[in-house]
Amino acid sequence: STFQELGLNEDLLKAITDLGFEKPSDVQTKAIPILLEQDTDLVALAQTGTGKTAAFGFPMLQKIDVDSRTTQGLILSPTRELCLQIANEMKQYGKYCKGLNVVAIYGGASITDQAREVKRGAQIIVATPGRMKDMISRRMVDISKIQYSVLDEADEMLNMGFKEDITDILSHTPEDKNTWLFSATMPKEVSNIAKRFMKSPIEITV
Ligand code: AMP
Repeated sequence: STFQELGLNEDLLKAITDLGFEKPSDVQTKAIPILLEQDTDLVALAQTGTGKTAAFGFPMLQKIDVDSRTTQGLILSPTRELCLQIANEMKQYGKYCKGLNVVAIYGGASITDQAREVKRGAQIIVATPGRMKDMISRRMVDISKIQYSVLDEADEMLNMGFKEDITDILSHTPEDKNTWLFSATMPKEVSNIAKRFMKSPIEITV
């Protein structure tokens, strides 16, 4: 199939051409039409390097309202490196989405600088759980209007002991948001999180 057939808009298709992506990967072919067409939760069993960032990134970019400065999308990922990598990919994918602001939030860097960036109005925040929780408790960030949340590398985040931080963060988001969970493996801890926070998720495996 082609990216066009998956239902992506012109702004995203232009960025995809610039990036030189010729055809959607397996996880993209499976996830993108579901996430574009349905307001559903999703559990995807997918390794890194499969193109999973675009699998959740393209639908999120297409569904958010860039004319609003409200934070609508939240992507949680286990490490600072991943967080920066995802934020950079989202900026590239969204380069033609006029008004889009993607902000990365992670530990080991100035919290006041990050708070200032958030304050300028970020439709999408990519964050590590520890720093995110910290900024919520200091009221530096408002995630009460989140519509789409992604738990990326969920198995890694749980391995790293972020379960309580994730629970705390999600408790500050609306009940009616959609959650998209991506994980390379599906141990009990991950399915427990899925059961606890997700409503009849569609499951895909690549
Ligand atoms: P990820 O699994 O999201 O970390 O993506 C792995 C790499 O594949 C990234 O460098 C992406 O830019 C690239 N990529 C993602 N989707 C495609 C695609 N459909 N065709 C070619 N490269 C892609």
